[in-house]
Amino acid sequence: MVTMEQLVSLCKRRGFIFPSSEIYGGFQSTYDYGPLGTLLKNNIKGAWWRAVVQERMDMEPLDASILMHPRVWEASGHVAVFNDPLVDCKACKARFRADHVWFVEAVHGEETKPFAIEAGEADEAEAKAREKYQIGKKWEVRLTPMIIDAPEGTPQVCPTCGEKDSFTEPRAFNMMFKTEVGAVAGSIAYLRPETAQGIFVNYENVQQTMRRKLPFGIAQVGKAFRNEIVTGNFTFRTREFEQMEIEYFCWPEDGAQCHQEWIDARIAWYTRYGIKRENLDLYEHPDHKRSHYSTRTVDILYRFPIGFAELEGIANRTDFDLTQHGEFSGKTLDYFDTKTERRVVPHVIEPSAGVDRNVLAFLTEAYEEEELVNQKGQKDVRTVLRFHPALAPIKAAVLPLAKNRPEIVDYATALAAELKPHYMTQYDDTAAIGKLYRRQDEIGTLYCITVDHQTIDDDNQVTIRDRDSMEQVRIAREEVLPWLRERITV
Ligand SMILES: [Zn+2]
Repeated sequence: MVTMEQLVSLCKRRGFIFPSSEIYGGFQSTYDYGPLGTLLKNNIKGAWWRAVVQERMDMEPLDASILMHPRVWEASGHVAVFNDPLVDCKACKARFRADHVWFVEAVHGEETKPFAIEAGEADEAEAKAREKYQIGKKWEVRLTPMIIDAPEGTPQVCPTCGEKDSFTEPRAFNMMFKTEVGAVAGSIAYLRPETAQGIFVNYENVQQTMRRKLPFGIAQVGKAFRNEIVTGNFTFRTREFEQMEIEYFCWPEDGAQCHQEWIDARIAWYTRYGIKRENLDLYEHPDHKRSHYSTRTVDILYRFPIGFAELEGIANRTDFDLTQHGEFSGKTLDYFDTKTERRVVPHVIEPSAGVDRNVLAFLTEAYEEEELVNQKGQKDVRTVLRFHPALAPIKAAVLPLAKNRPEIVDYATALAAELKPHYMTQYDDTAAIGKLYRRQDEIGTLYCITVDHQTIDDDNQVTIRDRDSMEQVRIAREEVLPWLRERITV
């Protein structure tokens, strides 16, 4: 399986993802999508729009603004809830989420050794501590989370530097980015920490202008911002990120069924675009981890290079959001069925996927180092990104076999120009053909079309090489576009 280092290196080398502000030394785990990353990301979003809006009868698109009325975040609970207790180590200045620091005591008979580890859950903390501190199997491990006041006498050591009792008192921290609006000081706004609220506040606008009856949903793609304390694992956790979110409004009694249907639909979408089912897993949130209003929350996990981790969350949010916004705005957000004269606050199913995590997942899934035997009989390795045709950034590359012959170059550039209105097409003559093929394989280009001497002198035909099988066919120039159309599925 591909490692994160291999992915980061390929993304940089081939123009998928660069560290942001790189000439200034980068900035705080922010990333920029390069030319191929931009295309890949757009294709993923396009495939999502296709499946969740275009191919369905019950969905509408929306593009709400990032800045919203500050009361929105009071109604949503973000002002109150987004408070993570933080502690600093006075010795090494490392900052931790207090609920992610575990004091570890390894106990064997009379002997006790104190450690500390950073982890989200107890199981994870024990596994990490055993590995990091090489705690043998005979030793029992006792864990005390820092967040519950550790009992008197618990050795409080810093997970980073090992200093004892070096922590500041935990203090609250709001994860929303705050900003000021306009020239008057004190007019506070937040960068949205999720796109969902833009959908809720437009529920009535969309329902009425589109003449929608329950059930129906609204889909949105957009940037969101959270001032995360801990970021990392490349683009997996960043402070600025993009979401693909759906709020699906339904009758209260249909909530459970709609929820399950969306879980199935979203898994089907991932497998449709090439994610193997065995690389997806489901995580049912236990009662104590779920928001109080949610009756069921299921995460779709993907087997990232860092292990199974959340790719998308699908929550049954009941009537919480519309009720809250009704109370805070003073405007009743409900639904009236004229036939049955029934009035309800709709329940909401929320499939919420990370665009950046999707990019990372599809890159991980596509990456392969294939062992080959070259023409000289030597073993060789080619790196290939086996993207689904709809997701591949470049669909076709037109390559001249000899760039010292003007007729070949002219023919190839003309063919590339002819294909460009239909598909993302590259023309490349900057290396020998073998190297050009490898370069295209490494960015997942579906087809390499080669123009050679025979094309010019003899048959007006070109060679098309398939990325996955590396098989080649020779077809007439006018057949190229229909040939591509047959194979590049959506
Ligand atoms: Zn420290």
